Amino acid sequence: MNQRDTVIPIIDSRTLRIPAAAGPVIAGKLVDTRRRPLRDLRISVTDRCNFRCTYCMPKDVFDAGYAFLPHDELLSFEEITRVATIAHGLGMEKIRLTGGEPLLRKGIEQLIAMLVAAMPAIDIALTTNGSALKAKARALKDAGLKRITVSLDSLDEKTFREMNDVDFPAAKVLEAIDAAAAAGLGPVKINMVVKRGVNDHEIVDMARHFRGSGHIVRFIEFMDVGATNGWRMDDVIPSAEVVRRISTAFPLEVADPHYQGEVAERWRYVDGGGEIGVISSVTEAFCSTCTRARLSTDGQLFTCLFAGKGYDLKHLLRAGAGDEVIRDALCGIWQQRTDRYSEIRTAETAKARKVEMSFIGG
Ligand code: SAM
Repeated sequence: MNQRDTVIPIIDSRTLRIPAAAGPVIAGKLVDTRRRPLRDLRISVTDRCNFRCTYCMPKDVFDAGYAFLPHDELLSFEEITRVATIAHGLGMEKIRLTGGEPLLRKGIEQLIAMLVAAMPAIDIALTTNGSALKAKARALKDAGLKRITVSLDSLDEKTFREMNDVDFPAAKVLEAIDAAAAAGLGPVKINMVVKRGVNDHEIVDMARHFRGSGHIVRFIEFMDVGATNGWRMDDVIPSAEVVRRISTAFPLEVADPHYQGEVAERWRYVDGGGEIGVISSVTEAFCSTCTRARLSTDGQLFTCLFAGKGYDLKHLLRAGAGDEVIRDALCGIWQQRTDRYSEIRTAETAKARKVEMSFIGG
């Protein structure tokens, strides 16, 4: 099965319905049917990754026969910058570059510099598996990257190598985290996806390792993204259990969110050893405050991580549409948005056709 079989063909410039009268705009900002503003844009810059994490891009699906996108189907840096700049004009304040593995996209520093030049006030972050970060950290910072998240599912070499399924050492990811901090990209956020029976024995060790470092580990519930990772509710360790386990060793207290709609719930160590975050998309849905849109590698706009279809912005871009048309399309898409997948998740919805995370961006 290839990605383009999974994505339902989307509405194109001929059929894209743009509501005649604009929907609600609150305090000059575009909002959806549930009054959620468009605040964040996640941009997948490549559908390729050099890891084969068993819960994300399992080897038996993403194998030599898998048809990744040809280069001319990828949005160019100019196209990405154009869409982002128009979204910025509608209130979008934060960009996260992701993938696939974003550091595999050639010239990614150049894209960052273009985005920052077009939108000097933008908060721009990137999520990476860390494999190429040590060499690139300084250039990313110099290009204008503000923050970085590094994925690291285990400190135990055997567990980590089994999870990334390409025998990549955890020690190298730790070196990359140090390099990012040295380049001025700290505090680094560290994503650990927790899967029962696979790496949950590592929760407290991970907390211990990064306590006092200034970096922030975020423990993520294993999610039913895509259609290939064999998700089962039994494999999910609820965030409440993560907090309980860490608290037993290092007492935690809840901390206020930095802003409304923050994805991770913050917990701080009572003794001042820093903080952790938990991301509980499965057990404590946060759809009601979700302000994220996602731009896929091939230029479709998705309004939910668990969506089955996106809107074909690339078609508009390459058909010569002017900025006003793109702007109207973004408004129309966002104003019609009703998504609340995590609030209505069941074992049945988990089996539905959904776009892969590597394509839409994590
Ligand atoms: N390649 C980059 C990386 O490894 O961070 C960016 C893309 S990756 C899809 C983004 C994040 O999504 C990673 O932290 C990854 O662990 C997380 N992720 C992937 N599949 C997931 C799943 N099924 N449940 C929860 N998180 C997942």
